[in-house]
Amino acid sequence: MEKRDYYEVLGVSKDAAQDDIKRAFRRLAKKYHPDVSKEPDAAEKFKEAQEAYAVLSDENKRKQYDQFGHSAFDQMNGGAGFDFSDIDLGDILNDLFGGGFRSSFSGFDGFGNFGFGGNRQTKGRDSIVRVDLEFEEAVFGCKKTINLTLNDTCDSCNGKGGHGSKKCDKCSGRGVTVENRQTLFGAFQSQTTCSKCGGKGEIFEETCSKCKGNGKIRANKDIEVTVPAGVDTGNQLRIKGKGEAGTNGGPNGDIYLEFNVKKHPLFVRDGNDIHLEFPITITDAVLGCKKEVPTLSSPVKLTIPQGSQNQDVLRLKGKGIEDVNYRRKGDMYITLKVVIPRKLDRKSKKLFEQLKDTDLEKDREFDKIKKYL
Ligand SMILES: [Zn+2]
Ligand SMILES: [Zn+2]
Repeated sequence: MEKRDYYEVLGVSKDAAQDDIKRAFRRLAKKYHPDVSKEPDAAEKFKEAQEAYAVLSDENKRKQYDQFGHSAFDQMNGGAGFDFSDIDLGDILNDLFGGGFRSSFSGFDGFGNFGFGGNRQTKGRDSIVRVDLEFEEAVFGCKKTINLTLNDTCDSCNGKGGHGSKKCDKCSGRGVTVENRQTLFGAFQSQTTCSKCGGKGEIFEETCSKCKGNGKIRANKDIEVTVPAGVDTGNQLRIKGKGEAGTNGGPNGDIYLEFNVKKHPLFVRDGNDIHLEFPITITDAVLGCKKEVPTLSSPVKLTIPQGSQNQDVLRLKGKGIEDVNYRRKGDMYITLKVVIPRKLDRKSKKLFEQLKDTDLEKDREFDKIKKYL
């Protein structure tokens, strides 16, 4: 089951103020709180709203969510899911239901399972893996083998956690037990997860020894991935369904590869464009010339016009990097660096001395200064 967008859950806009977010959550909490709501899916709805509120009411978490979506919190905790234990909903719930309300109730255990949902299918956690790429690997694309350790379905018990399953006798296979509770609104029946089967509704004659009843084992996996041409540092690639095993037959999580592209000794990347600083002699700049210039593919003959200045930029259209999403290429920019000789041999020195006697100050730039002399 895909998670809904948090803004959508609360029914607020992306730029909603904190007051609106709080108001929206109060409204939903009133409607879906499992102790008072008669809606059949109240627990789910409440949990969803609570999660959305926990994130959006915290400016820091909200920012991360805006940027990375749901995967932000897998990343934050190194794949440990989002820890809700530090979120105190006591205030807002006390407001709603009067004093003395417990902010943790009915077995809310954080991210995965809320109260009555012990046998609920949940998607496995998403993982973020950082991948270093050589400059060329990023530019042209490549195949990579990614090695990672994650929670995989136990192959001995097929993820069930045991062998020889039978119906739980405590809850008659329902996964929940019912008790009467006294609240400010009067008596309510409230359901709690069955303590014997943990909500699964079934128990096993023998606990799986390989996974110790967990249904999951740590496994080391190699995953083959094709990195598309044009990726850059910070880009993420989602590999669907290759992440951690789901619970109760839920789908696997996803793996997000986040790339870090190494620098090239010569080329500097700017998005899909490539920059190159290209040294030329003073005579080549003055007289103009044709020069072989290295590009991402084969070298190109470049015409450097007569009278080129230091820092002049020439463009080679389409010689940049192919965009990762569109079949369009960036350009290559060549910045001329006129290198003034630091040492001259006797012959060159003589020739330069002869040049001294000619009028080289014809450029307007000299006039500007002369005005003030
Ligand atoms: Zn097992
Ligand atoms: Zn049970």
